[in-house]
Amino acid sequence: MVSFCLRKGVVLTPLRTLTEGTVIVEDDRIVAVSNKNTRLKPSCQEIDVRDLYVAPGFIDLHVHGGGGHDVMEGSLEALEAIAGAHARGGTTSWLATTLTAPQEQILAALSAIEKASQLPLKGAKILGAHLEGPYFNPEQAGAQNPAYLKLPCREEYEAILNRFSCIKRVSVAPELPGGLKLGAELKRRGILASIGHSNATYQEVLAAVEAGFSHVTHIYSGMSMMRRVKAYRIAGVLEATLLLDNLTTEMIADGHHLPPSLMRLVLKAKGTDRVCIVTDAIAPAGLGPGHYQLGGLEIVVESDVPDEYEICPDPNSYVAKLADRTSFAGSVATMNALVRNLITLVGVPLSEAVKMAPFVPARILGITSERGLIAPGLKADLVVFDERLNVYLTIVEGKIVYRSDRYC
Ligand SMILES: [Zn+2]
Repeated sequence: MVSFCLRKGVVLTPLRTLTEGTVIVEDDRIVAVSNKNTRLKPSCQEIDVRDLYVAPGFIDLHVHGGGGHDVMEGSLEALEAIAGAHARGGTTSWLATTLTAPQEQILAALSAIEKASQLPLKGAKILGAHLEGPYFNPEQAGAQNPAYLKLPCREEYEAILNRFSCIKRVSVAPELPGGLKLGAELKRRGILASIGHSNATYQEVLAAVEAGFSHVTHIYSGMSMMRRVKAYRIAGVLEATLLLDNLTTEMIADGHHLPPSLMRLVLKAKGTDRVCIVTDAIAPAGLGPGHYQLGGLEIVVESDVPDEYEICPDPNSYVAKLADRTSFAGSVATMNALVRNLITLVGVPLSEAVKMAPFVPARILGITSERGLIAPGLKADLVVFDERLNVYLTIVEGKIVYRSDRYC
């Protein structure tokens, strides 16, 4: 049996803070967590993490790529490279997210995800697949390739859901004909039904919630907002998300997608229990500025913040945009940067910010019996970082998958 313990760090469970905590791991599980000097078995290797924080490994429910690779490549090598790139940012598990693309390409990507989710990777564990599209509203396509958008077709999606047990989440525009039926089918199968790239009205969102939708994809991106019909104001997906307690949502807190004021507004309306952070990262995550391809579209990675924007994000932080710069194409961040932004840009206390990276997403996905907390019996998915959120160690199911050079 492999056993080790992390000692003397500040442990954020994250429901409690243990100032000089000990976390004991045996094989792939956490076996003990305490605030005192627990007596260790002689075989237990001790890792001193004094002056550092220990938190549950971050769970990212929306990842398209990283380290130069994209989920849509449909290969184990690509998935492993992405898993490795995000582990460097403290992510220990993630949903491999597909894009709107030709059907064969989506199926090839799902085949690779199905295989990879059963394997230990040299990086963050793949929890399963998040299908982002193709059942989206063209009015809210954003960076989803409009050429491949379609209406939900029962035979088509049932065949896909029957074939791939790895599908854990599907983003859909519920107002499309057949959208509510698809939401109900997802709920029946225990798959997270998420409202995304949607032009729904408030009334249509209520119908979606009744049908089984419980989450909203990347708040403020690809969604309707208040519009006017004749003289009357009609609320959209945005207002419904802020208002309805039975909807959870996710925020791309990379410092580019949303200014601090909007992130604060989301948290003021929904609290930190119903909002998780996601990267929505794409292949160039970790590669720096330049021109790239995304699902057949030209994209540019840069930091070109308009004067009107509230903040100047970290000069080393970039974002991906469509080549005409009309829309973001995804982030190039990792989860540790998002947690840092919540603290420095939004003013969220560290312990709350850390909750939104592993615990809230685990609850949204319904996996808190296995992940998202530091507690005995749970998978030993852990991240060790300093007060600037620089990651020192990333541990996935009891194995160190990333160790920073800072850490000797
Ligand atoms: Zn999207």
